[in-house]
Amino acid sequence: MKIKFFGAAGEVGRSCIMISTDKTKILLDSGIKLGKNEEYPVIDDEEIKNIDAIFISHAHIDHCGFLPFLYSKGYKNSIFATKPTIEIINVLLSDYLRLNSDLNFEKNILNSLNSRFKIIDYKKDFKFRDLTIKFIPAGHILGSALISISDGKNTIVYTGDINLLKTRLLNGADLKNIAADTLITETTYGGDKDIFPEEKQVANQLLNTINESAKTNSKIIIPSFAVGRAQEILFFLDDYINSGMMQKIPIYVDGMINKVLRIYRHNVIFCRKELQSRILMSDYDPFKSKNFKIVDRKNIRNYIIAKDEPCIIVTTSGMLTGGPVMFYLSKLAQNENNKLILVGYQAQGTLGRDLQDGINKITINNAEIDVKLKVETFHISAHADRKQLEQIPLKIRGLKNIFLVHGEIGKLQQLEAQFSKKYNVKIAQLNTEYEV
Ligand SMILES: [Zn+2]
Ligand SMILES: [Zn+2]
Repeated sequence: MKIKFFGAAGEVGRSCIMISTDKTKILLDSGIKLGKNEEYPVIDDEEIKNIDAIFISHAHIDHCGFLPFLYSKGYKNSIFATKPTIEIINVLLSDYLRLNSDLNFEKNILNSLNSRFKIIDYKKDFKFRDLTIKFIPAGHILGSALISISDGKNTIVYTGDINLLKTRLLNGADLKNIAADTLITETTYGGDKDIFPEEKQVANQLLNTINESAKTNSKIIIPSFAVGRAQEILFFLDDYINSGMMQKIPIYVDGMINKVLRIYRHNVIFCRKELQSRILMSDYDPFKSKNFKIVDRKNIRNYIIAKDEPCIIVTTSGMLTGGPVMFYLSKLAQNENNKLILVGYQAQGTLGRDLQDGINKITINNAEIDVKLKVETFHISAHADRKQLEQIPLKIRGLKNIFLVHGEIGKLQQLEAQFSKKYNVKIAQLNTEYEV
């Protein structure tokens, strides 16, 4: 089989990989890279015409945002993904298309794309021409999958984005009984220093900082991706309020997080068994917790800012590249009692990363703002850290080759040095074809 990378090569974003045999060409993911300048996979139109099918690992825009572009360029074959992935893609893409109306896609592009989607079940062999494809739970967000591709002789496993540990909502990736000679792995937190502290330790620090703010009437903004981190952080806050360990202050939930919360709820069968039984066996449904105040009208935002009370605002976007978080930040940044708590990955070139790095002047809607609020970072990540990434190859029987994708270049090199002791390792290069 041949592997070619159209993106996520030496960067986090625009994941798009072609796997081909003599008879078949498929794409794994087709994402874009959000940031100050949006970037797309480097794939030419001729190549798009030859794609027989697309398989999407999960619904984050850096793995599926290029689908409307592919459709417009003439791709009309099937797009395979799990049921929750297809539902979440619809929410995220409809928002993306609304914000990018200048891209002039055909009017009903989302409906057209929907007619191409086909559901693929976890852990069932799926025959596609000369290939056997299998989706395996990846533990990253609802519906996320590792994808295994076999041509009868060789097998490639692609992690998509992966998390090995169980979270409040999901089980960790299911790496039992995987055999493959080639692994394509994400490396978001692949650096030597990317070792996350124990969850308990993070939880304690986070509770301390929130309880401290509650005393001073200050407001906390928690920017979050609409899918994954938002639901985890909401369940975390809800648990600690209910247990009495966290002060009961309002938690405002603004933006697409709410829609996605509903998708999680009706796909709870894809969540952890403990969560399913908690909902079935008791009256308590954390998805509908009274601790969450849903912001369903824009004018509530001014009320939240003006009200003299401590509160937490969980809102999009996760890396402060747009969305309601920009409004809250513009109103709350000048007060040193307020806090911005970063819980997810902040890509280079995003405002989130700049704030994390200590920038103290920002521009929102042409207005320059002094940043006085405290910026704090907590690792509640949906990605494997370095320790977990090192575990993945050990769990795959017969592994020989590793391609590293979806990581910053320095981190890729550090992980390459480690994996090279045992495997044939390559840092994926843009538009280069490899034979395995
Ligand atoms: Zn992801
Ligand atoms: Zn990703």
